[in-house]
Amino acid sequence: MSILLEAHFVKSVAEWRDLPPDTGTEVAFVGRSNAGKSTAINAVVRHKLAFVSRTPGRTQTINFYSCGEGQRLVDLPGYGYAAVPLKERKRWGELISAYLQKRHALQGIIAIMDARHPFTELDRQLLAWLSRSPPYLHVLLTKADKLTRQEAHNTLRACTEVLSDILPSATLQLFSGTTGMGVSTVQKLIWNWLHKKTPG
Ligand code: GDP
Repeated sequence: MSILLEAHFVKSVAEWRDLPPDTGTEVAFVGRSNAGKSTAINAVVRHKLAFVSRTPGRTQTINFYSCGEGQRLVDLPGYGYAAVPLKERKRWGELISAYLQKRHALQGIIAIMDARHPFTELDRQLLAWLSRSPPYLHVLLTKADKLTRQEAHNTLRACTEVLSDILPSATLQLFSGTTGMGVSTVQKLIWNWLHKKTPG
């Protein structure tokens, strides 16, 4: 797991032509703005790598972090922030859908959803792109520390059902970057993906 802890920033990319060479292995984080993506990334690498913000939607670039020879974590820009101009949102959609569907290095995707508002319309649109592409998908239901035990139980059950309809091979878990709930599970999964090991 130590490779994750060594993750460091490589570059920010706004255009397809600027992506790093499509070699090695990558795991990408994607999610609706403010769902807790930056907090999740920082919890997984155990240091401040991604910018945690109260102003969602600021980062419209794809950020690459190296965590070993040819192994990268990829922070995709958050979606669904209304203040981002339409033209910019369209460009976002084109770049992200192309990245998710065409990138050979991409082994797995960590989709971040707020456990209190999972599977929004935009989340479903994103998952529809993924269901046409080969990489593995794992959903983190973040901010789970805000749920009672009963709510957490119900959320997990309902989300498992929804996800199995959308993409049966995908997996999911409750997560909290704030309390550390579920962090070691997702670290192991990412490590396996970066080393091209199948889930399970
Ligand atoms: P991003 O826009 O998806 O990168 O979201 P951020 O990581 O910037 O988080 C958005 C807000 O949610 C911030 O105020 C975070 O402190 C808060 N947050 C993120 N993850 C958690 C979590 O697991 N638990 C709690 N209680 N708050 C969280």
